Amino acid sequence: MRGAPTRGGRRRSTITPAGILLILVGFVALTMIVLSPAVAEARPLDGAGTASLEDSPVDPVPYSAPEAGATSSATTGGGIGVPGLPSIKAIRCVNQCVSATRATRGAAIRIVGENLNRVRRIVFKGREGRIRTGYKARRPNALRVIVPKGAVRGYVFVVDGSGNRSNRSPSELPVLPKTAIPVELFPIRGAFSFGSSGSRFGSGRAGHTHQGQDVSAKCGTTLVAVKRARVQYNRWDGGAGNYVVLKNMADNTSFVYMHMIRRSPLKVGRVVNAGTPVGRVGNTGRSYGCHLHFEYWIGPWQTGGRPIDPLPYLRSLAKKR
Ligand SMILES: [Zn+2]
Repeated sequence: MRGAPTRGGRRRSTITPAGILLILVGFVALTMIVLSPAVAEARPLDGAGTASLEDSPVDPVPYSAPEAGATSSATTGGGIGVPGLPSIKAIRCVNQCVSATRATRGAAIRIVGENLNRVRRIVFKGREGRIRTGYKARRPNALRVIVPKGAVRGYVFVVDGSGNRSNRSPSELPVLPKTAIPVELFPIRGAFSFGSSGSRFGSGRAGHTHQGQDVSAKCGTTLVAVKRARVQYNRWDGGAGNYVVLKNMADNTSFVYMHMIRRSPLKVGRVVNAGTPVGRVGNTGRSYGCHLHFEYWIGPWQTGGRPIDPLPYLRSLAKKR
């Protein structure tokens, strides 16, 4: 995946005319990429699809403004937004997390920023000095990184192939032991309502009875895995909209999330922990207003199992919030 290690002794330390030309060409290319609205490379990390709803107040894609960097002069000093130099805007924990902003040793984190496609090393704070590590995936606007074993709470920065250092992360990344990972979590990160009797499991619907609990929340609110589970389906359906089925690892039960604002970024087969982001509340499919339709199945979803009323369980999770 990564390039061959650089042999420092052989590198030229002076800038030749050819080198200057290369830098100019690189800068022009970068400017075109930043200004182009269809940044093909930048999309996959943010989940497929471009579905957006008028009632969604949230833009879940933390892209940089198109002007950032593109209009500033190449002679500007170091800092965020300088063309070519890597910068960090935010860090989000995506797997083996205590929360979206708190990681564990071995957790997968997503570093969001600019000019990250030439990054070679990610530097964490360790108990006895700095710890350097590589990346798992790399895009211009994001890196996926595993938090190294010896890492402790601290600021994170990155270094690119030319030795350019980024700013340090806007805040310290808390790194906690794995035992701090919650076992169960309420699926909605934000304000919600269980609604009225029509939202209940078993209430009447055209041609069938309601197989889940509807939980109202603002479109765009983050949805997380309730328990450690394997992603069984990540699909679209005319009725369910964008939906995900998570098969729980501990027992033969499944949780289903429907009407999400866009397709979940989770790959089928992936194992997620409680708290791993699943998607965002939406209004897709046959849905009237932003809400999560949540199902709790005993046995396989739609293939021999049966749904039960998830409300008592959801209420117990809500109390622990
Ligand atoms: Zn429903």
